Amino acid sequence: MVLKHLYLFGLCATLLMTGVANPVRAQSEPTSDLDISLADYLAKAGPDAKLIEPGKLKIDKHRMVCGKRPTVIDPKFESWGGAYPGYLILNPDRLKGLPTAVKLFVYAHECGHQFIGRNESAADCFGVKRGRRYGWLKEEGLAQVCDFISKLKGDADHAAGPKRCKKMRMCYLEAGPRPAGN
Ligand SMILES: [Zn+2]
Repeated sequence: MVLKHLYLFGLCATLLMTGVANPVRAQSEPTSDLDISLADYLAKAGPDAKLIEPGKLKIDKHRMVCGKRPTVIDPKFESWGGAYPGYLILNPDRLKGLPTAVKLFVYAHECGHQFIGRNESAADCFGVKRGRRYGWLKEEGLAQVCDFISKLKGDADHAAGPKRCKKMRMCYLEAGPRPAGN
């Protein structure tokens, strides 16, 4: 599945990040409807989409924040999560039933795109480090995230699952406390 301008979790190409220096776009992507504003997204998504103000999002009792960025809950969204500059998107139907750590990771990965642009492995790393530092990602959760990711095929923007996971484990270690004596 190749998608346009969104940063999609898992499958899909990424999109844009206008406003970021040197935005890189997948070559097959049209440049017409890049950068959909929040208002346009909501108008297009229709009544099923819900806007959650920054600071109000809770995922399995965890309050999740990505600076001042709101989240659109859209059951018709084409992936688990996505990010346009300035807001995040989650698909509640796709996330339903996944382990909590995976849901939180999807959110944190999409949040990562807000800061680092389209680089998928950097967004993964951001999500893992944030999870460890904020305390919601432990070894067990990381294993669940890896398990989930390992089933995904790679594409132009995403490495294949096992490779993605290997990098994420390194990020997890980097975010941990330094061993005594160092
Ligand atoms: Zn992504």
